Parts: sequence; C-alpha cells; structure tokens
Amino acid sequence: MPHIDSGIKLDFKDVLLRPKRSTLKSRSEVDLTRSFSFRNSKQMYNGIPIIAANMDTVGTFEMAKVLSKFSLFTAVHKYYNLKQWKEFASQNPDCLENLAVSSGTSSSDFEQLKEILEAIPQVKYICLDVANGYSEHFVEFVKDVRKCFPSHTIMAGNVVTGEMVEELILSGADIIKVGIGQGSMCTTRTKTGVGYPQLSAVMECADAAHGLKGHIISDGGCSCPGDVAKAFGAGADFVMLGGMLAGHSESGGEFIERNGKKYKLFYGMTSEVAMKKYPGGVADYRASEGKTVEVPFKGDVKYTIQDILGGVRSTCTYVGAAKLKELSRRTTFIRVTQQVNPIFSEAS
Ligand code: 5GP
Repeated sequence: MPHIDSGIKLDFKDVLLRPKRSTLKSRSEVDLTRSFSFRNSKQMYNGIPIIAANMDTVGTFEMAKVLSKFSLFTAVHKYYNLKQWKEFASQNPDCLENLAVSSGTSSSDFEQLKEILEAIPQVKYICLDVANGYSEHFVEFVKDVRKCFPSHTIMAGNVVTGEMVEELILSGADIIKVGIGQGSMCTTRTKTGVGYPQLSAVMECADAAHGLKGHIISDGGCSCPGDVAKAFGAGADFVMLGGMLAGHSESGGEFIERNGKKYKLFYGMTSEVAMKKYPGGVADYRASEGKTVEVPFKGDVKYTIQDILGGVRSTCTYVGAAKLKELSRRTTFIRVTQQVNPIFSEAS
C-alpha cells in the first residue's frame, strides 16, 4: 500500500512572518552579509547570500559582474567554453570570488569543469546540477569531484529531503541545492507528479544540513522579495533566484520588440528553446521539460537587486533581526489563507 505522509507541508504562499518587538530604528541598520565556513572545502565565505541561478538566461557573466558589486553571488551557467571564461577572467578578476562554475555529470561537462578551474584558480566554487539529485550515479559523481578538487566549495542538487541532504554532504558536497518542482519555468509537477512544498523542504533540509555543519540553498520558487525573506526565515543559508532576475539588461535570452513593447525570452533549462540551442547538452539536466515565456523588459538588474535587498532588510526590522544571521531565530511563521488584498488585482 502506498504510504501517505499527512504532516502539513507548506509553500511560501501559505505563511507570513509574524512581526516582533524590535530595537532597530531603520532598515539601514540591518546587516545582510553572512560569513560561513564550509564543512568539506574548509573555505570561508563572506557576502550577501543570494545567488543568480545557473540558467543561461540568468547566470551570465554580465549578471556576475553586477551582482558581485553588491556582494551577491552567481552560479554561472555551463554553456560558456574555456575561451570565453579566460577572456572574462582577464577583464573582471574582482568578481571571480563571487561565482561558481556549473557542471552536469557527463564526462564532457566534467572535462570542461577541470579545464576552467585549472585555467582560473581564483574561482573556488563548483555548482553540480542534475536531473535527479537522488541517483546513486550523482552521489558517485560528487565523490569524484571532491577527490579532484579537495579545497573547492561544492554546491550540489537538487533534492528536497533530509536524508539525501546528509548523503550528499557526507559524499563531499558543502552546500546542498534544495527544491524540486517549484521553479517558475518548471513543469516537473505537472509532468511527473513529483515535488515538495518549498518552505517545508527548506526547513527540513536546513535542519539536516546544519546538524552536519553543512549548508543549503533554497533554489527556486521565489516570486517577490517577501519570498526571499521567508526562505531565509525558514533556515536557508543561500537563496537562488531564476525568474526574479530574468528579463533584465544583464540576463541572457533573446530581445523581442512587439507593438512598441520590449520583452526578453526566459526559458527553463529543459525547455524546447534550450534543447534546440544546446542539442544533447541539456538532456541530463532535468527529468522533465521547462516552459518558455516572454518577460517584459525590466531594465538594469541593479534596481531589482536594491528592491530585493530593501525588502529583506525591512523584514529584518519587522522581526527585530539586526543581522540576516538572526532572521531564522526571530522567525515565527503564521499560516494564512490569503497573502494580499485582491481588490485591485487582475483576478478581481
Ligand atoms: P525560479 O527562481 O525561476 O522560480 O527557479 C529557478 C530554478 O528552477 C533553477 O535554479 C533550477 O533549479 C530550476 N529550473 C531551471 N530550469 C528548469 C527546467 O527546465 N525544468 C525544471 N524542472 N526546473 C528548472
């Protein structure tokens, strides 16, 4: 008989943060930087732990340059070749400490990863991203990468449950990417029926990771700065964003102009658009397909970053957290049935 887990599992939309008494006078007093020491690489991190997703529409070199100025991080997508990496590294040495090189588990991906890391020793982070973080093949791959790069910090995923977070950490990963089916471009839940509500996944996986002195990334599912704050409140060490950073000058994706309006193409890494662009190169990325949308052009990403950071700072003042580090300790989630007043929304 199939097992039913009837415990309550929640998404960002199911909760709000309860405000608490605070001595903070203004959101400018809030410090969003965090310092981490990674379990397996033994490297130190210092920065604002928000990451641009390793999608070719988001994790671009142009994005990395701007995000790094704000102390944010970029998981650069895996479709830049060695020549492009070398050229980029020669022009922008400052931002190399705030980015990761991405790879799937194919041997060609692994070869390219080795070449890039050898050529650019300032890059200290590796992002290993596969269809299914639960496969034994992936666990073995994480072990191989750890052997090859004993002092690089390894991000690996995606998974949504504590036992797999533990297995990946014990296999050599430092930071586990958490999230299945929640991405804005993702059709996994409709195609496969598989998934896990993101807020609960983050709470459970953070607990498992922190018990082993590992870290987690809440990857995907954020649609507004409030969701980013909720992910941190739930215990995420890092929050990864795709859709919220799409559609900007620095984002990848084709520019479209129609009836005087500007758009940028945004697509999932297993969407038809990505499949056609990189034949054979996306097959191992995600089990199911992704969507494609035209995002109204949003201009420079710096304004969106300021908006996100302003929102999270404000969350911290509402709950009395002087530092981002204190946010999860000061978090009480309230279950709700409504997030916003719908009177002027499109649905009404
Ligand atoms: P977002 O912030 O847009 O909600 O989610 C971004 C995340 O969605 C990415 O970091 C990645 O984990 C996931 N993702 C990106 N492309 C695809 C895709 O084509 N299919 C699926 N299932 N997930 C994707």
